[in-house]
Amino acid sequence: MSGKITFTIIKPDAVGKGHTGKIIDQIIQAGFKVKAAKLVYLDERTAGGFYDIHRERPFFKDLVAFMTSGPCMPMVLEGENAVASFRELIGATDPKKAAPGTIRNLFADSIDANAIHGSDSDENALRESSYFFAATEIF
Ligand code: ATP
Ligand code: MG
Repeated sequence: MSGKITFTIIKPDAVGKGHTGKIIDQIIQAGFKVKAAKLVYLDERTAGGFYDIHRERPFFKDLVAFMTSGPCMPMVLEGENAVASFRELIGATDPKKAAPGTIRNLFADSIDANAIHGSDSDENALRESSYFFAATEIF
């Protein structure tokens, strides 16, 4: 059975362009509840730890540079079939391939600056939520 929790980050490009409110509204309109949210400015170590799984990939350095380029907004979300339905809402990693109306289709410019993160499994949703939030910060 799939879980009700997923984790997202509105990435620095989208926050910097003032899209935070529109993106949160789209997430809520899609039926998700915000369980935790905060604005953070990641340092290299924290961003690298979050994307540790991609450490050996050729794009890792650029990814960390991008994620530390400005404030971003991590959030814990609750919804039915949360991980899969949220990834559907955000669209493909490469915004050129993201379906019309998805968050990446509407707000992302490139595969690097792609506006938003969404967990790819229930296990990672919990790991990522607790990477950014204490239990006492999740409602
Ligand atoms: P995210 O984990 O941010 O939700 P994703 O799950 O769609 O994105 P991943 O494969 O986990 O995609 O890649 C993590 C991030 O690394 C992507 O969001 C993107 O910003 C960057 N990335 C992935 N593949 C590439 C690539 N080929 N070139 C440049 N950047 C990439
Ligand atoms: Mg991913």
